Amino acid sequence: MRSLARQDTGRLHGRDGRPEATRFCTHCGAIQNDAPQRVCGRCGFGVILTTAREALGEAFLVVTLDLQVAAASMAVEKLLGDPDDLLGLPLPAVLSGDDLGRLIGRAALGSRRVVTVTVSAKATGRRLSARIAWCGQPPAALVVLE
Ligand SMILES: [Zn+2]
Repeated sequence: MRSLARQDTGRLHGRDGRPEATRFCTHCGAIQNDAPQRVCGRCGFGVILTTAREALGEAFLVVTLDLQVAAASMAVEKLLGDPDDLLGLPLPAVLSGDDLGRLIGRAALGSRRVVTVTVSAKATGRRLSARIAWCGQPPAALVVLE
């Protein structure tokens, strides 16, 4: 394995099993790991936040610790309607699910565990799969819907 000792050895030190983080746009969902700026350089609408790479998907909400919808991606539209109409709403007005508030609270407080639960869209009653992960900064939870 000596051939690994080239330019990538620095990266191999991070082998403590922590989920890798990725930076993404809250509007278009683009991964922006190289972006130095705070606003998305691709769509110009979203801000750049950080989440667990394994959790990220196209349709998602960013939910604060007090369970308010802080951001909704474009792709949420086909599941929940116009994303702009969701901003600032209390989460229970948008989604319901067993234990949903507690799981989001845990993620917003920084739990590194990514959990998947079944939720219902309040507007349509449609059942969706929700992947919940930590998201920052500021502290929030990412709720990826499928
Ligand atoms: Zn964007």
